[in-house]
Amino acid sequence: MSSNDNQDFKTREVHAGVSPDPLTGAILTPIYQTTTYVQESVDKYLEKGYSYSRSGNPTVTALEEKITALEGGVGSLCFATGMAATSCTIIGMVGAGDHIILSDVVYGGTHRVSTKVLNRWGLECSFVDTADAANVKNAIRDNTKLIFTETPANPTLKLTDIAAVSEVAKAAGIPHVVDNTFLTPYYQRPLELGADITLHSTTKFMEGHNVSVGGSITCANQEHLEKIMFVRNCLGSNMTPMVAFYTLQGVKTMSTRLEAQSANALKVAQFLETHANVERVCYPGLESFPQKELADRQASGHGSMLWFEVKGGVESGKKLMDRLQLWSLAENLGSVESLVTHSVTMTHADMPREERLAAGITDGLVRLSAGLESSVDLIADLKQALDSL
Ligand SMILES: *Cc1c(COP(=O)(O)O)cnc(C)c1O
Repeated sequence: MSSNDNQDFKTREVHAGVSPDPLTGAILTPIYQTTTYVQESVDKYLEKGYSYSRSGNPTVTALEEKITALEGGVGSLCFATGMAATSCTIIGMVGAGDHIILSDVVYGGTHRVSTKVLNRWGLECSFVDTADAANVKNAIRDNTKLIFTETPANPTLKLTDIAAVSEVAKAAGIPHVVDNTFLTPYYQRPLELGADITLHSTTKFMEGHNVSVGGSITCANQEHLEKIMFVRNCLGSNMTPMVAFYTLQGVKTMSTRLEAQSANALKVAQFLETHANVERVCYPGLESFPQKELADRQASGHGSMLWFEVKGGVESGKKLMDRLQLWSLAENLGSVESLVTHSVTMTHADMPREERLAAGITDGLVRLSAGLESSVDLIADLKQALDSL
């Protein structure tokens, strides 16, 4: 029961990072619920690798090793939440007066921490349309220290060409971080496409069962890893062993869930395209997806996220969301339960309206995260709600 780099993704997903407990043979890595680690002697301090659970914990290490085995790179770090991963990455890589370039469509919290918290320490941010790498190149200044993209982006699903932006970043000597939450390393591996750091909200597909919030990063470069690890320890943004335990179990079925949820998403998207009360459907697996060629080129699957607009605008959209029964009206995505979200009032409420509209996050956008239920039931629920409008 060991894992190595030559094994298929699905084998590494189950076995990497985990080996039977040497004391008992327990097949699962235990929850090392402890603050501290007794040292054998002053001279042998840190001999076993751990001193205090803010700095490191064996259950968390097991998850970090598993994620590295899936994303590639030199190592991973786990955090209390996806936002802790984002914040520590930015703080670790830049300083006061530096400039960063972000995708114009990013997770609402990423926009919020950059423009409402980190700006107070003099961080300058440019939100650019990273779908075209030329825009990234044009936005680079002398003090640009980080390029942060998210693809597919939450919630519009706009794609960034990871290889093209990584090339621009490399030429300028600026690290490129990719938020890979929507597709997971099973469908998309940014480090193989030239990115320097890949980031996840493990809350989403990795844990996948609406049990816990968490985050991770994986670095291609040891120096980046150490800078961010230092900040994680200073700020105390580490993941707890309990969350690492849940996530270790969740990841084992990640690719299998993603395949089934993506198949459901495609069926739902195809159904929505045929309904008279639907104005527009967006899913990277549909021929009508504006960046279909890029979607097929840089990812091996299209994920469980889609969105649509209902005829009749916001009012019809709200009615529809209230009438859905099987789809739960909730923030979060990537879980086994199917969820519906109104991004404008929920996940992206803090983004200024003009900026939101310019990024394509319209008032009537209904975001869906297809779960693991039967597609027949999921479609029937959408049909009854749409028919009633
Ligand atoms: C949810 C999400 C985050 C933030 O993660 P939390 O675990 O909620 O802090 C970051 N990026 C993307 C793309 C997300 O969907």
